[in-house]
Formats: sequence, structure tokens, C-alpha cells
Amino acid sequence: MADPLVRFEGVRKTYGAGGPAAVQSLDLDIARGELLTLLGPSGSGKTTTLMMLAGFEMPTQGRILLEGRDIAHTAPHKRGIGVVFQSYALFPHMSVAENVAFPLSVRGIPRAEREERVRKALAMVRLEGFADRRPQQLSGGQQQRVALARAMVFEPPIVLLDEPLGALDKALREEMQLEIRHLHQRLGITMMYVTHDQAEALTLSDRIAVFEGGRIRQCADPRRLYDRPADAFVAGFVGENNLLPGTIEARDSEDCTIRLACGPVVTAQAVDCGARGESCLVAIRPERVAVSGVTASDLGEGALPAILQEAIFLGDHVRLRLSVGDGGEILAKRPAGVGTLPEPGGPAAIAWPGGAAFAFRPPPARV
Ligand code: ADP
Ligand code: MG
Repeated sequence: MADPLVRFEGVRKTYGAGGPAAVQSLDLDIARGELLTLLGPSGSGKTTTLMMLAGFEMPTQGRILLEGRDIAHTAPHKRGIGVVFQSYALFPHMSVAENVAFPLSVRGIPRAEREERVRKALAMVRLEGFADRRPQQLSGGQQQRVALARAMVFEPPIVLLDEPLGALDKALREEMQLEIRHLHQRLGITMMYVTHDQAEALTLSDRIAVFEGGRIRQCADPRRLYDRPADAFVAGFVGENNLLPGTIEARDSEDCTIRLACGPVVTAQAVDCGARGESCLVAIRPERVAVSGVTASDLGEGALPAILQEAIFLGDHVRLRLSVGDGGEILAKRPAGVGTLPEPGGPAAIAWPGGAAFAFRPPPARV
């Protein structure tokens, strides 16, 4: 990336001597004005990465550049980075306005300017009328908006948010996701956002870096991540996927033929898989699996015979659990009220469009 705002270069972090690395070997650029999300399961190294950029942890190896400058020896408060954590960390004895003004007071901004900036920051998060309240007089969502205003009031080059909505209930979380997204779009401020929630990452992000075991598995925009996952981990973590074990029977540079462990032979795009004879996982999204009540031979080449085990009505869509071959199971998903279904327990046929299935190496066994 040309002229990134932030650059991680070969960054590694181990806590204590001889322990495993929390962050393995991180190369990552953050563009000016983008909202980049670090997405991954608990313990995958997201917070460690954020804390190194904020200056609360030191890299064991490698460099972090902010606007081209190595910030290794710059103290956290001198980096001028705004941070929002899951726990609101507001000062309980201060009013909302005093909380938001705090970073400005620390920086010696004169009172008149301070008041003007606090007023603007509170308007930005739609809390104009709340300046004199105490944090404990606010709801969780409002407290988190105060934290956001406080992180942005001194116009930092980048704001870091670590699971900021983790303590909120689902409806409020979804509302705040849109609010953060709109705030980001309106102000063009650069943000690095940490979450373990893939739906949240898809909602918010310009780009998503998927973390696992202290490494980035893939960094791409939401659509590409969903449509072209780079490996089996990303395929399983972002959105839903059937991941069917099998063995490669033939392959060229683009496609391969796989015998599934449950019996049938299928074709899939060879994204990241081994050679003939090696095991692999075939990824197929539930919404790409078409289910019909006719037999597989009626459906033509590529269709597989299956048995519909269960149809679960979920309002806007129906989830179908099908058994395939000898002990195989495939999940399908379709909009509710579309087409007819075989009776549960009855024969069905499943098919998917060419190119919808991907073959990946199985993830290495964890020790
Ligand atoms: P995430 O934010 O993705 O859940 P973390 O960056 O918090 O992951 O943790 C990554 C790894 O580093 C985990 O194995 C965690 O136990 C370990 N770790 C995090 N912070 C510390 C610490 N202060 N001391 C020792 N180990 C830590
Ligand atoms: Mg964390």
C-alpha cells in the first residue's frame, strides 16, 4: 500500500520468555480514512495488536510506523491515538462534558475552544442534551457513545476500538454498528476495530483482517472475504459454510475432483489444496445448495441424492438439514415460502452451481 497511515512490519509479540507468540509475524497496512477490522476468535491476538499500536504493549520484534515514523519509543499519550474499550472506562465522578473534555484538558487546550469541541463531539454522537449527566445516569449505549466522543474529541489520526459493543444487547449493538459506520463515513476518520463477531465485521468494515493463532489468515474487503475465502479457517469463520472432508482424486490448476468421505464425487475450485491423494475440505455455502424433491437422476449431472432430515422455519428463511451418502450431512438455507420441499425423512436431491464449491487444505491439527 502506498503511503499508509499505519504500517505493522514483521511484528511479533511474546508475553514473558519462552511462551508462545500472541502475535506471530504481522505485516499489515491501514490506509488513511479506512475502517479496518481485526476479526478472530478469542485469544487470536487482536487485542495484543491493538495494544501495541496504542503503545500499551511493546512488540518483541518488528516495527510499527505511524505516518511513516517508527513509534517504538513514543509514549502512549504522545501517539495521539484515540482508544475505546468494551468496559466504558468513563470517570464516574465527572459529568459527561467533563469526561469528553478530559483529553483536551490534558493537552492544555484553552477553555473556550474546549467547550466548543466538547459541544461538537457530543452532537456528533447525538448526546447534546446529556452534557451535565453522570455516566451512571446513562444507558450502556449512551455511555459507549460518550467514550466514542472522548476518543475522537482531540481529532486523533486514528481511533482504536476494542469490542466496544460487547456489553450491549443485540438490538442496541446493531444500532450502534450502523452509527459507528455512519460516523466513520461522515467524518472520514481512520479506525481500527476489534471484534470476534463476523456479522459485526461485515456490517462495519472497509476491510477485514481475519486473525487466528496470532496470524492474519486473510485481509480483504467483506465481499471478497465471503465470496473467495483464502483457506478453510476463513471459510468456516466468516458466514456459514458446509466443510465436507474428502480426498482429491484429480486436479488441474483451477478445479479438482474430490471423493467425499461420505461417498459421492464432487468438483470444486482448487483455491488452496494439495495434490491427488491428499485430503481436503470442500466448502459450500448453505444458501448455494439447492434442494428439490425430485430424484438426483432427474436433476442431471452433479446432483446428489440426499434425505431431508429436518426443515427449521426461521421466519425469513428455512434451514434444511440433509443427510448425504454414508454419514454425510449438508446444511442448506433458502428464503421461506419459496418452492416446495420433500417431507422430512423423504428423498431429495441437492445441487449447487459450478464454481460455488471450494477445496481447501484441512487446518493443521492443534497441539
Ligand atoms: P484476542 O484479543 O484476540 O482475544 P489477545 O491478544 O488478548 O487475543 O491474546 C492473544 C494471546 O496472548 C492469548 O493466548 C492470551 O492468553 C495471551 N495474552 C494476552 N495478554 C496477555 C498478558 N498480558 N500476559 C500473558 N499472556 C497474554
Ligand atoms: Mg481481545
